[in-house]
Amino acid sequence: MDPNRDLVTQLVNADPGLPRPNPTQSYWQHVPHALANAQSATLPTERDYVIIGSGITGLSVAKNLLERHPTATVSVLEARTLCSGATGRNGGQMAANVGEEYSYLADTHGPEMAGKIVSFTFRNLEKMHDFIREYDAVEASEMQKLHKLRAFLTEDTFLDFKKSIARLESDHPSWKGFYKILEKDDIIKDHGIHGAAGGCLLPAGTVWPYRLVTKVFAALMAKYPDRLTIETSTPVTAVEHESSSVFPYTVRTPRGPVTTRNVVYCTNGHTGHLIPKLRGRIHPFKGTMTVQDPQTEVPNRGETTSWGFHYPINYDPATKESGHGLYYLGQSVKTGYFYLGGENARIEHVVTADDSFVTKNSVKHLQSVLPKFFGSATPEWNLVSAWSGIMGFSSDGVPVIGQLSESLTGRAGQGEWIAAAFNGYGMANCLLSGEALVSMILKDRESDWLPGAYTLSEKRLRETLTAPESIKALTAKL
Ligand SMILES: Cc1cc2nc3c(=O)[nH]c(=O)nc-3n(C[C@H](O)[C@H](O)[C@H](O)COP(=O)(O)OP(=O)(O)OC[C@H]3O[C@@H](n4cnc5c(N)ncnc54)[C@H](O)[C@@H]3O)c2cc1C
Repeated sequence: MDPNRDLVTQLVNADPGLPRPNPTQSYWQHVPHALANAQSATLPTERDYVIIGSGITGLSVAKNLLERHPTATVSVLEARTLCSGATGRNGGQMAANVGEEYSYLADTHGPEMAGKIVSFTFRNLEKMHDFIREYDAVEASEMQKLHKLRAFLTEDTFLDFKKSIARLESDHPSWKGFYKILEKDDIIKDHGIHGAAGGCLLPAGTVWPYRLVTKVFAALMAKYPDRLTIETSTPVTAVEHESSSVFPYTVRTPRGPVTTRNVVYCTNGHTGHLIPKLRGRIHPFKGTMTVQDPQTEVPNRGETTSWGFHYPINYDPATKESGHGLYYLGQSVKTGYFYLGGENARIEHVVTADDSFVTKNSVKHLQSVLPKFFGSATPEWNLVSAWSGIMGFSSDGVPVIGQLSESLTGRAGQGEWIAAAFNGYGMANCLLSGEALVSMILKDRESDWLPGAYTLSEKRLRETLTAPESIKALTAKL
């Protein structure tokens, strides 16, 4: 009996429940949008599409359905306030992890598919910049197009990274030179970052996701007042199916039922609550974020640089806390504040869907590491804000996009769809995943750029998207 394994097994298979009604306050949401509590006077019914979840994925699905279907009626049902899930509580990084993950992706999905995943994520990031411009949200969302400096804090992590990039460049020569490798001395001299064994620079960006998503929802509400409704404080508690009806699905909420032709789950780490057969295959993963004020100690580089700090995953048997291997960091051009996230906590505080508290040790840890990266003698900078948020992780490290089969839902009918489990990299995946899902729903367009590994095949459900694979991956960290 391995107690860690037993605990992980219990955690990944647990019902994540509904989004908690009393989440921690995210700095991004400290000025709520006018639509934060939007809802119709009476819950509408007989909808063509009900989308569950109002994060960036729900937004992308809603936008594509409304734009590409001339008459579709759409209701977005959200348990809490608008955009109050991971999208409203993340790190604001528009960056991809596919370089350092390439070896894993190639081993798991094959080199050809791994190359497709790399292309997809960078295409999605480009699309994010276009999308922000299209909705005139550059200023509101404080979007920056910049370079991300990935710093590797040990020789081994740097070596693994270089091997991964070498393999990417050898399998797919068009990516040659995209990642600019930096040696230790360059990182201190040119970038003022201390303690790295080496690193790289790659194109990336930063954004205020809450402001972006709420602004676009407002634009959609203005453009489609007769076809779109947003229903916040409307948790979906169950979905039922009645084959003989024109609107065969009944979506249950405390405000009453909504009947619909299709249900689209954009429920991220909470998906397993409504689709129990996906528990364990997709599990919640709680992240911690801080905003820290360096005052005048370091220059403001928010316009040119964001940062990621990679270290070996570690476990302390005395405290039972794990360091999950990454800190991610951006800086506000306006205030100079640093936005730093990372996980250093007991496994039961990480594999959980409870964002109603922050783990104090994680926050202390994030405060203690940041000044050191910039060579500051100050032990801690001022803590402006700290909060937590729930990501959705899949056992095979890639999103889950497609039609839900009867074997997963336990219901007859062809009208249940999903886009979830972005493994902490939603800004590099959600927008195009939503677009591709709508292509599947409407069958109106090819989206052959969507990596096949993201879709819901029976083979994937049998082999890689399984609870035992999640348990294996998490237990390896303990
Ligand atoms: C702390 C943290 C830091 C992160 N940092 C980054 C980063 O820097 N860069 C990056 O790319 N990604 C980051 N991510 C991940 C990224 O935020 C997500 O991948 C992305 O936002 C997922 O978007 P989504 O719309 O799929 O899910 P969400 O934004 O989580 O939206 C899902 C919504 O569904 C609602 N919901 C769930 N169940 C129900 C139900 N039964 N009824 C009604 N509503 C329901 C939830 O309330 C929620 O609002 C981070 C995530 C966290 C938590």
